[in-house]
Amino acid sequence: MHPRSSLVLVLPVVLATLLLSACSLPIYSESELESESGQVFQEMRAQTPAATDARLIAYVNCVSADIVQQLEKPYSEEDWEVVLFESEDINAFAMPGGRIGVYTGLLAVAENQDQLAAVIGHEVAHVTLQHALKRANREATTQGGVILGTAVLGAGPGVGDIVSMGAQLGLSLPFSRANETEADTIGLNYMADAGFNPSASIQLWKNMAAKNKLGAPQFLSTHPSGDSRIQDLVRQLPEALKRYNAAQAAGRTPNCQR
Ligand SMILES: [Zn+2]
Repeated sequence: MHPRSSLVLVLPVVLATLLLSACSLPIYSESELESESGQVFQEMRAQTPAATDARLIAYVNCVSADIVQQLEKPYSEEDWEVVLFESEDINAFAMPGGRIGVYTGLLAVAENQDQLAAVIGHEVAHVTLQHALKRANREATTQGGVILGTAVLGAGPGVGDIVSMGAQLGLSLPFSRANETEADTIGLNYMADAGFNPSASIQLWKNMAAKNKLGAPQFLSTHPSGDSRIQDLVRQLPEALKRYNAAQAAGRTPNCQR
């Protein structure tokens, strides 16, 4: 290649890198991601019908409310919106800005209030640990360089698109293995502090694995569960049981009826 034409190709990338380092990273604030996730949540509500079984809706709200009470501030003070979606998908999620979504299909795997609390505790822990925010900013740093490079060439999306794209990356992709382990640990604390029996988390993952043999639940595609996840939970169980016993002694004895 002619040296001059290769310089033309490289220059935009260099410019983009300089531009990116000039903007002080991180690019997203928590409130930006919260409002973006609000839009995503509304889109999901428009696309997937909400369940109509009042008893099941009350059940999922009951478990969620008990977990939310145990979160650190400001998360415990947020007005959490809980939606039970009518769908056979075995899935659940929590989003920044106080949003929890549970699919009715999950209730066939999470058999009781303690197992459901294990899922919700885990999902909410991703929010309080700011995993989506951290990932959005990490992805923006790498993807943003590429996108800005294209933008400088005049062919790609603008900076506004990068914000939106990054937020989606922060919300819709699986978390890293390290994030998963962290959410398991903190989620176990939340459920135990709320008075849900933490040993149910182990049965939940066994149920997930059993379902996996019939065709992978969506939840497992973003939450790969090998024996290592269960072994980690078993290792952490004695500590979690202490928290559970303390919660029970303090009168936190959830009784969510399905
Ligand atoms: Zn997770």
